[in-house]
Formats: sequence, C-alpha cells, structure tokens
Amino acid sequence: MIIIIIFFTSMALNPALQQSQIDIAIVGGGPQALTIATHLLQKRKDIGRKFLVFEGTGTWMSQWRERFAALEIPHLRSPAVHHPDPNPHALRGFAESRPDELFAPYDLPSTQLFADFCQDAIRRFGLEDKIVQAKVTRIIPPPQTESPYHKRFRVELQDGQLLSARRVVLATGTSKLQMPSWVGKIQTPYPKDRLCHSRNIDLRCFPAIQNSSERVLIVGGGLTAGHLAIGAMRRGAKVLLMARRQLQEKLFDAEPGWLGPKYLKGFWAETDWERRWELIQLARNGGSMTPAMMLRLRRAHREGQLALYERCQVVKAEWLGNCWRVGCDGGQVYECERIWLSTGTKFEVAAEPLLADVLDAYPTPMVNGLPVLDEHLRWPGCELFVMGGLAALQVGPVARNLYGARMGSERIVPALIKASVGLSRARSA
Ligand SMILES: Cc1cc2nc3c(=O)[nH]c(=O)nc-3n(C[C@H](O)[C@H](O)[C@H](O)COP(=O)(O)OP(=O)(O)OC[C@H]3O[C@@H](n4cnc5c(N)ncnc54)[C@H](O)[C@@H]3O)c2cc1C
Repeated sequence: MIIIIIFFTSMALNPALQQSQIDIAIVGGGPQALTIATHLLQKRKDIGRKFLVFEGTGTWMSQWRERFAALEIPHLRSPAVHHPDPNPHALRGFAESRPDELFAPYDLPSTQLFADFCQDAIRRFGLEDKIVQAKVTRIIPPPQTESPYHKRFRVELQDGQLLSARRVVLATGTSKLQMPSWVGKIQTPYPKDRLCHSRNIDLRCFPAIQNSSERVLIVGGGLTAGHLAIGAMRRGAKVLLMARRQLQEKLFDAEPGWLGPKYLKGFWAETDWERRWELIQLARNGGSMTPAMMLRLRRAHREGQLALYERCQVVKAEWLGNCWRVGCDGGQVYECERIWLSTGTKFEVAAEPLLADVLDAYPTPMVNGLPVLDEHLRWPGCELFVMGGLAALQVGPVARNLYGARMGSERIVPALIKASVGLSRARSA
C-alpha cells in the first residue's frame, strides 16, 4: 500500500490537478455531473475540496451544447423546472428578464437561456475550477479483499497519469448507437458520409444543400428525426421521413407521472428487475414528436417539402454510385442521396469501457445490459455510483434526462456525505 501511495504521489501531475489522491472523482462534465456537484455543495458547502470532475473536453456541459448546436435545437423539450440547480425555481428566477425565452407549454427554456443558466450555476457554486481536462481511460476498483479503510479506486487518465479515489461517480452518458439490421447487410461499398447516425450528424456542416434535388431519407419517429428534417428542409433538401410506426405525438418523452409517485410508486414496489425493465420500455415507448414539431412536419408535408412514410420500414439498401436505392417492407422502392438514421441509442454496461474492470471484480446481475444497483445507485460491493441511463432500473424511465439527474443525485448524495450510508469510511481523503 505504502509503495502504491509513493508511486501515485511521485508522478508528474496534470497541471490542473493539485493532488493524486482524492476523495470523490466525478467522471464526465455534462448535466448529470453538474447536477450532483450542485447537490453535494448545497448539502455540504465544504465538500468542494473533496471532489474533482474529470471531463475529456475540459469544459462543463460541452457535449450537451455541441448536440443542441449540431441539431439546431431552439429550445428544450423539458420544462423550466428541470435543470441542474437544486432549487427547482432557480431557472424561472434567472429568466425573469428574458420571458420570451420560455416557450409554451410549460415554459420550455430556449437553448441559450438554459446554457446561460447552467453557466451561472457553475459560477454560483464555485465549480469553474473543479473541472479537470482529462479523459478517464480506466477505472480499476479496489480488490474485494481490501480492508474498507484502504479501499481506493485507481483512475487512469489519457495522459498516463494515475490517481487514487475513494469514491467514483460515473456520469459519462455513454450509450451505444442503435443501428437497424439492414445497415450491416449493405453489400455495395458506399461513401461513409452518405449514411450517418444522428449522433454523428452536424447540420452546421451542411451550410446549404445547394442542389435542391438532393433527397435525404431520415429514418426514425422521434424528436431528433424532426430536428433533422427541419434542418435538411431549411437547406433546400427534399426530405423523406420514414417511421416504422405511426408518428406518436407526446409533449415529453415519458409521461409526467414518471417524475413522481403516480407511476414510480408501483415501479419501485416491483421486485422483479425484468419487469422493471419492461416498464421502462413501455414508458418511453420508442420515439415521439412534440405537438409543435408535429405541426411543422404536417405543414411541410402539405406544402410538398416533406414526404412522410409512416408504418414503413427499410429492409434493404444499395448504393448505386451516386444515390441510394432503398427497399421497404411493403415492397416500395425509394431513391435518395443521403440516409440519416435517427434510430436512437441504447444504454448498456458493455458500451461503457470504464465499467469493464468493475464488472470483473464485482459481478452484479444485468437486465438487458442494465446493472442492478443498490438504492443509492451504488455498484454492489464498491463505492462506484452510476448516473444517467444506466441507472434506470432504480431511477425509472427518465433516468437519462435532466429530472433523472436530480432524482439520481438525491439518492447518491446521502451515500457520499453520511458515513452511516457509505460502505467505506475515510480516515483521510
Ligand atoms: C439532442 C438531445 C436533446 C435533449 N434534450 C433534453 C431535454 O430537453 N430535457 C431533458 O431532460 N433531457 C434531454 N436530453 C437527454 C439528456 O438530458 C441529455 O442526453 C444529457 O446530455 C445527458 O447528460 P449526461 O451528463 O448523462 O451526458 P452528456 O451530456 O453526454 O455528458 C457526459 C460528459 O462526459 C464526458 N465523458 C465521457 N466519457 C468520458 C471519459 N471517459 N472521461 C472524461 N469525460 C468523459 C463527455 O465529454 C461529456 O461531456 C436530450 C438529449 C439529446 C441527445
């Protein structure tokens, strides 16, 4: 043990890091991480010296901002009370001088308002210097046999630096792209930029699809498909929007009943993890469009800018050298120059390489890729806490959303600040 400590302390440190031993390492700097950081500080002001946030880009909320900009999303889907500050009314207060940036219904904050609010929260909570620009490449948990007083994780950073942390909060938001099965069966070679998943699309890279005869096929029925359709039409493309079901119209991606006891009481009473997983699928029920987006798409459809194919699935695609020929389950054949897949992402442990060593050392039951965590979202047997979509079996269908970050933080924070709830007890950080 002494040798390991000497090794850690003798390494050249990332300039932003003042120490090689920390109490709490938060991995990721997105909304989930920001939410737990503010909740920790709200409960215990002096905890700030005990944690650091490791974010590959070195900037809070960078991935969030990037996706909103890439998809040209004007406002959030969730209402103004959903945000990383522990005070649910804080965003409304912040928006007092900017009322026209709260959109109906339920005051949906504009993208800029939300970004400014988060920046303000980062400042108010003194979180600017809590973030370390470092990608975490490996989390090695302590051996099961280690005494609780000495249990520490080894956290490896991309620059080769090693840290030791007593507790780790994983908030990387990592998920796997869901690709339709026909994509793997395409036999003709094709230019990679002609078939893209929405996560890899940046509308800003298509300043104008000058040639107005360019046709873009968008596959999917969720709100992201809608944003892509609007973006492509704005650039002069002809859009074919194809969904395997009839488009679903919903204000939010899960019923508001999933934010409180109305549905969560029954969910938490369910002791069968498989059944909980089914309830999550039923609640999210694939993708859906907001009424406002549906209105815009139906209008574009009527005006001939958008072809809408509902209850239609691609079964085959071939690249003809200058365009795609796409065959559907009803026998229809369409041609287009680009295919954009808005087919979603899936949260599963296997998609997060940082969990490989943890899973090896501390096996836990899995339900369709989701880990069974304890009530504090702690990986059974060690002090690693999981936030976001991977915590859905405990938090419920909105685990990946802003409100899920709040619910997750409310579960994790007591385990981080109350010795009686923690597994290990620190003699020193
Ligand atoms: C387009 C879009 C719109 C959405 N709109 C809403 C909405 O309106 N309301 C709502 O409630 N939810 C919304 N969501 C869902 C959800 O709130 C977001 O996906 C949110 O970004 C999830 O937060 P996160 O912190 O889990 O992940 P992210 O925002 O992805 O943050 C994770 C961070 O971790 C970093 N990271 C990853 N791996 C490592 C590593 N190994 N080392 C160091 N850093 C790492 C990444 O760089 C990233 O910055 C939306 C999602 C998308 C994609």
